[in-house]
Amino acid sequence: MLNREKAFMKGKILVVEDEAPIREMLGYTLMKEGYIFCEAADVEQARPLLASEKPDLVLLDWMLPGMNGADYARRIRNNPDTRDIPIIMLTARGEEADKIRGLDTGADDYVTKPFSTKELLARIRAVMRRTKNMDDGGIISVKGLSLDPETFRVTADEQTVDISPTEFRLLHFFITHPERVYSRDQLLDQVWGQNVYVEERTVDVHIRRLRKTLEPYNYAQLIQTVRSVGYRFSTRN
Ligand code: CA
Repeated sequence: MLNREKAFMKGKILVVEDEAPIREMLGYTLMKEGYIFCEAADVEQARPLLASEKPDLVLLDWMLPGMNGADYARRIRNNPDTRDIPIIMLTARGEEADKIRGLDTGADDYVTKPFSTKELLARIRAVMRRTKNMDDGGIISVKGLSLDPETFRVTADEQTVDISPTEFRLLHFFITHPERVYSRDQLLDQVWGQNVYVEERTVDVHIRRLRKTLEPYNYAQLIQTVRSVGYRFSTRN
């Protein structure tokens, strides 16, 4: 499997941390582990990234210049667009009250500095598993349609679906981001990656193929066209 595909499956993490050495260490660790990583030194930098990168998880330092991590966590939770993004707070050693306040803001977990890489990665995996609607095997299921990111296998009502890697990535993105409309441009960024040059028309081609793949199993209608906007994965009619 290509590294990029592996990273896509593992997810994207936004690190908000003002200390550059810690940011670097986190970036190195996360990339080595197969995550896509983006970084911000403060909330001001994090804000546009949260909107454009749509991370699967935010690693948020408590003590930041400007707005602190706890207040930012609260904002992420109060915004309907970002409410579901899991947050792990990074807190300084011994600040027991902070930890409790951190969880009060809606953070999913916290890790105390200095932390071990192993511990942090375990927390990330646990939080992602909890929030990503996955069972322990990592299989995602919606109404009889199942995806296994580990094996790239798709089944529809227990029949194996023959699917290409790009259609798999597209379906994986949709199924993990249901009921939301994405423009062609957003789908390109999320599924193909920002550094790849692909025409917007390519999205239509792959949507067509994905529908054709799902059609024999009666799942094509889950991929809906939203006129003059883009596409949506929806189990509602
Ligand atoms: Ca700090």
